[in-house]
Amino acid sequence: MSEPSENTVLPRKLIIAIDGPAGAGKSTIASRLARKLGYVNLESGAMYRALALKAIEKDISFDDEAALVKLAENSRIKLEPTLGGNRTLLDGHDVSSRIRERDVTEAASRVSVHPAVRAWMVSHQRAMGAGGGIVMEGRDIGTKVFPDADLKIFLDADPVVREQRRMEQQKIKGHVAANVAADLRERDRRDRERATSPLVAATDAAVIDSTKMSEDEVLEQIEELARKKLGAK
Ligand code: C5P
Repeated sequence: MSEPSENTVLPRKLIIAIDGPAGAGKSTIASRLARKLGYVNLESGAMYRALALKAIEKDISFDDEAALVKLAENSRIKLEPTLGGNRTLLDGHDVSSRIRERDVTEAASRVSVHPAVRAWMVSHQRAMGAGGGIVMEGRDIGTKVFPDADLKIFLDADPVVREQRRMEQQKIKGHVAANVAADLRERDRRDRERATSPLVAATDAAVIDSTKMSEDEVLEQIEELARKKLGAK
């Protein structure tokens, strides 16, 4: 077998950005795609959630931008990619489950409206993904965190379908389901209407509407786009 020459071109390690509203399937797709490509999956939303949790614990107002930034600066927020998604560590404690609860979900959506909080998050997210070989998902990855990402996906779905998926995921029924749907709609509204980095598809993003697609179909489509970028086709 011949030795690779000095000019052997190693496959590039892409930066893949997946943005979209809650319940569109970003997390599952991002984690499956990362596994297929041998990349690291980073859930940027977990960082906003971890900061929100700390604000709850320290009784800091979600409207106090300066105090929230100070809190962020004095926190250690770490994402540890695992096969089943990201493990989130806050000051060394595993808060992966706690940050999915309703109060933290609502708080995350509120702390994320502040420009200075976003600036802190963005600089850390850039540092985490700088080497490439990542699938980062969130709301502003293709527009703000990595505007030069190799591949940008905007994953969307009909709001009713997104609500149903979320309820199935969390096995929620009855009046609690109505709350979940209302929460999701309110979070969406806040994400889309905030002045700084609102949720919007980057102009060069591939927009995928997953309303009538299976998870496998969505994954296949994105993987195909990624492989084209890698020049492996
Ligand atoms: O993605 P996830 O639902 O975990 O995000 C929680 C909240 O964090 C979102 O509702 C959104 O307000 C905020 N977020 C954001 N920008 C990101 C990721 C999440 O504003 N890149």
